[in-house]
Amino acid sequence: MARYTGAVCKLCRREGKKLFLKGERCYTGKCAFERRSYAPGQHGQNRKKISEYGLQLRAKQQARRYYGINESQFHKYFIMAEKKQGVTGDNLLRICESRLDNVVYLLGWANSRNEARQLVLHGHYLVNGKKVNISSYLLKAGDELAIKAESKNSEKIKAILEINASRPVPQWLDIDKDAAKAKIVSLPERDQIAAPVEEHLIVEFYSK
Ligand code: SF4
Repeated sequence: MARYTGAVCKLCRREGKKLFLKGERCYTGKCAFERRSYAPGQHGQNRKKISEYGLQLRAKQQARRYYGINESQFHKYFIMAEKKQGVTGDNLLRICESRLDNVVYLLGWANSRNEARQLVLHGHYLVNGKKVNISSYLLKAGDELAIKAESKNSEKIKAILEINASRPVPQWLDIDKDAAKAKIVSLPERDQIAAPVEEHLIVEFYSK
């Protein structure tokens, strides 16, 4: 599956907002968006009037880039969200939030969603006691996560846990930092999701 491998800071500049794709750096003065908050490229500083379709497209791209999800998978999530009861936009974000790579990042077990994806792929985490190495694995309420015992002792994981020790964890996740274990208390409500996206525009985009 094709994945974006270019400079991720350009994505934030293209979208005109911080998407927090680089972990710690995003919160420092080194953030490229803080220094150049205009689109990359020769015409990046020219102001353009954006159409309604353009707004909807941008909202969809922002969400995809924020979570690091490719187009076909994201569209699949939209179809799943439509079939569920409740508000489609909320359902869509809830599905994205419940991905294993996203939860690993939110728990502070990776510095970014991108890194979480790699670490999941390398089999560092357990779900309900079993190794899961699929970053798109969708978690549900009651699922229990843990860092594999051998992985807990790796220098890389130890460094990640130390860097993120004080990062707040959302209330819908119950974490035991010392034991490197966590539980999904419930899937998040919209006000517990920090994604900087306007999901109603995404619904409009796919509903055409
Ligand atoms: Fe985006 Fe983070 Fe790069 Fe800033 S440092 S532009 S928030 S990815």
